[in-house]
Amino acid sequence: MAGEAEEEEEELTIGEIRAGLAFVAGEWRRDVAVAWRGGAIVSVGKRAGRGALDFRGAVLLPGLVNAHTHLELTALAGRLPRAAFPDWAKGLVAARAAWEPREVEASARDGVRLSVEAGTAAVGDFAALGSDDALRQSGLRGVSWRESLGIAPERAADAARCARRFLRPPSALWTPGLAPHAPYSASPDLYVLLHRLARARRLPFATHLAELREEVLFLRDGGGPFARMLRALERDPGSWRPPGLRPVPYLAALGVLRGATVAHANYLDGDDVAALRRARATVVWCPRTHDFFGHPPHPVRRLLAAGVPVALGTDSLASTPTLSVRDEIRHATGKGLSLAAALRMATEGGARALGLRRSGRIAPGWAADFTVVVGRGPADALDGPVAALYVAGRPVKASHCARIPACVGVRTSLAALAHPGRATHASIRAR
Ligand SMILES: [Zn+2]
Repeated sequence: MAGEAEEEEEELTIGEIRAGLAFVAGEWRRDVAVAWRGGAIVSVGKRAGRGALDFRGAVLLPGLVNAHTHLELTALAGRLPRAAFPDWAKGLVAARAAWEPREVEASARDGVRLSVEAGTAAVGDFAALGSDDALRQSGLRGVSWRESLGIAPERAADAARCARRFLRPPSALWTPGLAPHAPYSASPDLYVLLHRLARARRLPFATHLAELREEVLFLRDGGGPFARMLRALERDPGSWRPPGLRPVPYLAALGVLRGATVAHANYLDGDDVAALRRARATVVWCPRTHDFFGHPPHPVRRLLAAGVPVALGTDSLASTPTLSVRDEIRHATGKGLSLAAALRMATEGGARALGLRRSGRIAPGWAADFTVVVGRGPADALDGPVAALYVAGRPVKASHCARIPACVGVRTSLAALAHPGRATHASIRAR
């Protein structure tokens, strides 16, 4: 039947890029040709076919991953002044309380647009207000983690039911995930219910953890600024009692740390790093947001030395000036990390944080996600304009350097992208 035959047809993407410099499997290589088919890389070598897109004036990176952000807060760019976290959070709650659903959606779409402009191929988004359409329809890879709140254990079942309703079927590029907000705002019952649901549906599970000094105090004895904040927000903690544990051992004891993606992990002590490694958790470091709140130096080196995977995230525009992962990489290198180490975090580390398999590396069999930046040396990877962005072998963005005279070859390639039928980069129909 014609209808069924059409459904069996799949779009097969093929293409080839020739780049002057590329970050291949964690190292820099000159004059690299990368070919892909059906969304996966099939070869990485020196020789390019005649029709390859000519990016010899550009640096080819694996698609950058922003492993932690809140796209729906994009409209708060520059609106919340630097303050202690509890005061900043009160401002955030007040600002978004008045939003209509269409404003939330518009804010999230703005966040997606800025992500594409910044050359981001994959996004890990915390959606508290249910705004997953923007990322789901973006053509980027992504996880929309449904952020759930509720410190009162009595409300956990309702919150978990609400989160379950949010779970739309995954697509080739996008999946929903589950995320209790943080140990100071979600009850142990809610953590356990959502973790169980995530494992049953094989969905990514994430949370904010060990982000704040106030969180450590609140879990220890129920005191500190968060106790006052709950009273000010008139949130009834119900039968919640402080566990008397630090954040990491608390979640480990609940059994919800296994395979989790953990945003921040700023305040680690004692056995915490080893516990994260045992749980095969992935940490997302948000370097500029970290400094916005004035936390002590992040334990990124201890985590990496212990073999805990670390990814990079921007967090939202309410606490960082841009949604550019390259700006986070630059900030990380300013703290003494090598460019290669920071790039690995922003690619392979990010892919792991999002639960993506064979993604975040330029190697045969891995996803054809690329961020292409105008330039000739490794430093240009951070400073050059983004020339093109590919996700699963398809161009999501192809612009910018058309007007840059030094960009020889790239211009021709961009022209080819605009008319894919004339280039080897083609979308062909195949049975
Ligand atoms: Zn966050």
